[in-house]
Amino acid sequence: MRAATGVGRTGAAAVKRREAARASVGRAGAAALKRRESARASADRTGVTISPQLHAASARTNAPAQALSTASSPLSRRAAAPTAPRPLGRTAALRRALLDWYRRERRDLPWRHDRDPYRVWLSEILCQQTRAEVAAVAFERFVLAFPDLDALARADEDAVLSLWSGLGYYSRARCLLRAAQSLRAAGHHNVPDDSTRLRALPGVGPYTAAAILSIAFGHPLAAVDGNVIRVVSRLARLDRPDARGEPHATLAQELLDPAHAGDWNQAMMELGARICTPRAPRCPACPIATACQARTAGNPLDHPPPKPRRAREIVGVEITVTTDPAGRLLLERGAFPLLRHLWLPPARLRSGDLSSYDFKHHILHRELRVTLRSQHTASRPHRAPRVGQASVIERRFFEPTALGRIGRSSLLAKALHHAALATHPEQG
Ligand code: SF4
Repeated sequence: MRAATGVGRTGAAAVKRREAARASVGRAGAAALKRRESARASADRTGVTISPQLHAASARTNAPAQALSTASSPLSRRAAAPTAPRPLGRTAALRRALLDWYRRERRDLPWRHDRDPYRVWLSEILCQQTRAEVAAVAFERFVLAFPDLDALARADEDAVLSLWSGLGYYSRARCLLRAAQSLRAAGHHNVPDDSTRLRALPGVGPYTAAAILSIAFGHPLAAVDGNVIRVVSRLARLDRPDARGEPHATLAQELLDPAHAGDWNQAMMELGARICTPRAPRCPACPIATACQARTAGNPLDHPPPKPRRAREIVGVEITVTTDPAGRLLLERGAFPLLRHLWLPPARLRSGDLSSYDFKHHILHRELRVTLRSQHTASRPHRAPRVGQASVIERRFFEPTALGRIGRSSLLAKALHHAALATHPEQG
């Protein structure tokens, strides 16, 4: 973030210089210049340094952009009370406070033991949609099975999906495997320090690319995920970001400590996950509380405003648990639209009255109401029944001991649990 030195000069010479500059840059340039001046003027009033882009975006969102406290701001006056935390001052102080807190308080997560790009990438994919503590357990078993990119690229999909069991969002696992194979095919033995190459990988968007590049390679790029959006929204009392993630992305980039980009990004995420949480921010424990406008205004929960919740969708499902005389279990994959790449007992969607069911299972916003049938096949077939639906990829009988080695949803475990309680299985 740039300093606000030299701002606020009002002498005739300065006015002349500005006019000359306006004349030379044309209309678009003049607008930019005006924005710069407006930002400078704001900085001059408050001592806050903030970019012209953010100033303009902040004005659009009706948010006071002067987020970071200064000696002259109302926030600083409040922070000067004897019981209040020490004022942070400018961005350098905010950075120092957050980094010090992170280095002191961070959780001992296994991917923080080194900055190996493969491990950083794996951790970032695992942490998408999964709590860090849960992702940490999966990370350990993953790196045990696939310690490096070469090993992952050689894996078969079932092995990868089986390690992903219980984490949900299974497309992440399939993307991970395809990305590893694509990197190996291009001759890489680790995740490359190459933004274009990274962004072309399946499952790697702008956030994940910035996280990998900053943590593994030290690039000064802000990684802006939901946690970071929440933190900067509250710091600057911003509305929800627009489709390009603005103005939050600009503010996050300005706050980033370029000399410690990896730690900074992790510190912001850690803060959002543990302190500045969605529904119960712990402001008294927050290391950057004195710079936070939402805290000063007493309304952190209003920033960003909550998203309208997606309506719950109720889906009827019938699952048939079929065993053969040897106790093997019939599973298939490909037929059930919501979990197409995972092994399940034959399942079909059902309509009609969904008020009675054996158990519920949730997939994203969908509530599956599952009824269960159990059947034993009378003979011991060498082959599974013929695949009827065109979409079924595969159908096989499995020994119960093999279930731990295949890609399976927790829906399978639930179905087996409930089927074991069924007292009168039908004869098939
Ligand atoms: S002071 Fe409260 S609302 Fe502001 S960043 Fe810290 S935890 Fe979040």
